[in-house]
Amino acid sequence: MIPNKLRLLWRNMGLGQTRCANCLAPFTPELPSNALDTPKNGPAGAAAPLCPQCSILFTPYKGPRCPHCAVPLQTAPAPCALCRQNPASWDGIAAYGLYQNTLRDALLRLKFGGALFLAPLLGACLLEASCCLPWPDALTAVPQHPVHLRRRGFNQAHELAKALHKLSGIPLQTELLRRHAPHIPQTGLSAAERRRNKHHAFHAPAAAKDMRVWLIDDVMTTGITLSAATHALRAAGAQGIYVLIVARTPLHS
Ligand SMILES: [Zn+2]
Ligand SMILES: [Zn+2]
Repeated sequence: MIPNKLRLLWRNMGLGQTRCANCLAPFTPELPSNALDTPKNGPAGAAAPLCPQCSILFTPYKGPRCPHCAVPLQTAPAPCALCRQNPASWDGIAAYGLYQNTLRDALLRLKFGGALFLAPLLGACLLEASCCLPWPDALTAVPQHPVHLRRRGFNQAHELAKALHKLSGIPLQTELLRRHAPHIPQTGLSAAERRRNKHHAFHAPAAAKDMRVWLIDDVMTTGITLSAATHALRAAGAQGIYVLIVARTPLHS
């Protein structure tokens, strides 16, 4: 045990001061109670420490969810009405939180604000969420439309997969999925039309054969994109496809 006097000295001298991985404010992490422990603040610990305010805000959703699409439910985990009608095409799903409040802000800052410094923190959220999934042969991220990629300069799903690869050591295979630009714009299409439009948007090479893959994305809303990517991996012979997302929208859209 570390005496309280030493803790006070550590804090007053600003020893071990770091920056919060979410709000970037400087703070001194709590000294661990055991000298052999490393300071742990937030899901990534020392890799992406969180200040006391942010660590309260970054908490996983632990309530009941639909086991197929991860939408939160009021009752015990069971397939939601939509999944009972139209079962998900992937073999399993894990999500860290809900697409609201702090988590939504962080994902929007990463995607539209270019805040790439948030990737290690959000990658750690993926790692925490993934504990229920079978260990994969590789990670792959949902690719972006080439047009969007050119405009934004980076793919947020790929940045998250890269961060998860660094934390877990699981191989990252970006070439397992390719995406073509859609022929028809998605805007104004019905859900059925969007599904048809996206169905041919992805291609997976023969290298995916017999692989167990974690398919990484930032947010799941309708699941149409993830479903199209899953179909492409399945067509190439992948044996296990598990969707891993940072956040799920709280309602079906
Ligand atoms: Zn903070
Ligand atoms: Zn569902």
